Amino acid sequence: MTELERKQDSSPVPAGWDYAPAPESRDIVTLEERYGLYIGGELVEPKSGEYFPTLNPASEDVLAEVAQAGPEDVDLAVQAAREAYENGWSSVSPSERAKYLFRIARILQERSREFAVLESLNGGKPIKESRDVDLPLSAAHFFYYAGWADKLEYAFPNRNPTPIGVAGQIIPWNFPLLMLSWKIAPALAAGNTVVLKPAETTPLTALLFADVLRQAELPPGVVNIVTGDGRAGAELVKHPGTDKIAFTGSTEVGKAIQRELAGSGRRLTLELGGKAANIIFDDAALDQAVEGIINGIYFNQGHVCCAGSRLLVQESIYEPVIQKLKRRLTTLRVGDPLDKNTDVGAINSKQQLEKIQELVKSGEEEGAEVYQPPCRLPEKGYWFVPTVFTNVAQSYRIAQEEIFGPVLSVLTFRTPDEAVEKANNTPYGLSAGVWTEKGSRILSMANRLEAGVVWANTYNRFDPTSPFGGYKESGFGREGGLHGLEPYLDLDESEVRG
Ligand code: NDP
Repeated sequence: MTELERKQDSSPVPAGWDYAPAPESRDIVTLEERYGLYIGGELVEPKSGEYFPTLNPASEDVLAEVAQAGPEDVDLAVQAAREAYENGWSSVSPSERAKYLFRIARILQERSREFAVLESLNGGKPIKESRDVDLPLSAAHFFYYAGWADKLEYAFPNRNPTPIGVAGQIIPWNFPLLMLSWKIAPALAAGNTVVLKPAETTPLTALLFADVLRQAELPPGVVNIVTGDGRAGAELVKHPGTDKIAFTGSTEVGKAIQRELAGSGRRLTLELGGKAANIIFDDAALDQAVEGIINGIYFNQGHVCCAGSRLLVQESIYEPVIQKLKRRLTTLRVGDPLDKNTDVGAINSKQQLEKIQELVKSGEEEGAEVYQPPCRLPEKGYWFVPTVFTNVAQSYRIAQEEIFGPVLSVLTFRTPDEAVEKANNTPYGLSAGVWTEKGSRILSMANRLEAGVVWANTYNRFDPTSPFGGYKESGFGREGGLHGLEPYLDLDESEVRG
């Protein structure tokens, strides 16, 4: 440790370093009291007649009522998508398709503050994340796929790319608008039409997106949005009128969908859970690595499928890493998602909070040592203090199961072989992180880790040009990049072989 590091280590965290509140105004968002379903280019009342409240998880206030799509509603949405596909969208020229996507991207940029505030209100994530991550990346996905819409022949030479038809898409609550963009942008660029089912707890940015579609003058029926709980998702999966299902969510529901689609000939891509290892070698730049650990697990309250939820630290640097990590934890600001100083916002729902609490309790009962920084939580709403578990055995539930919250489990290793063994000791295979100064070690680890994405000396980096997806129980199929277009296209395989 250098003299400077020693000095920094001994200096206490500035105890009274208070920040004045810097709340983002919510006036930019106009909420309706009630929202219908977006079918055939219009918000329509649900045939089911059912509505449910959608909350602000930071205050438990009701923001609006949202329609619960029933079987008849899902059927109407699929019919609208089929009609739009057959009577228009499939014959719109690729460069025209691109123009619509460019328009959507530009409108998202223009209205990004409105979307960011609404995303934080409805989902609980800090405004600095929705403003600086979710919105720019959502627009970037539309820009990126707009660029491919009229170049599919170049993207897949000699393979005669053609659209597949109607795509049913089901998304989760952790990145509502971003997951919508990951799904809708490639589907439209490839010439398909869409029925999208947002998550029950976070439907509002998808409904605001319907307004963007109207502004962009996208032909009616090309995108349809059916809100509701899991029943609406299950109806969409069951409906024989879709040619493909794209799902992001839990492994359990993913498996059920796979069973439902088996033998139907309809296509499927699944982006499911994860239990990623973030591996710190003793030659890594420690302060940088600690920032990577923090970003890996506390970003978006840990509601991230690729979160670095298992920290693997080389034994020789265990003490300084844990010391630095705990000190950094005390500086995280937990609270009002709309405050621009907030690092960790509200837990997305009561149900998710209970799941986190239950798993944390199991960690304590199984014998792990828990650390939580002193932290005053707001009285109303769903909150969880950023948590670190040390003394974790691989068999503990907190080392095996996806917690999907701000909870880190720390394990140690001595050799690269042991790190690989432990990192791969999970049913999941979505992502991993490697921190080391050695380029050769990065490459060898990346080859041996069973993970769809391996970040080196960074974590949670996303880019529309880069494919994302998992192995094993983390699912199959890729989103992003050229790979992300393939599931939405029929491609002539024989010419490739020939
Ligand atoms: P789900 O898998 O239930 O939700 C994902 C989406 O699928 C939501 O839109 C959901 O609707 C919908 N859905 C639910 N049941 C069905 C069904 N039978 N058929 C079709 N669609 C369905 O995740 P949860 O929200 O229940 O979260 C549970 C756990 O899953 C989390 O604690 C976390 O561990 C993991 N998870 C992983 C995610 C990832 O990105 N990999 C994302 C979200 C959760 P609705 O919201 O209305 O239930």
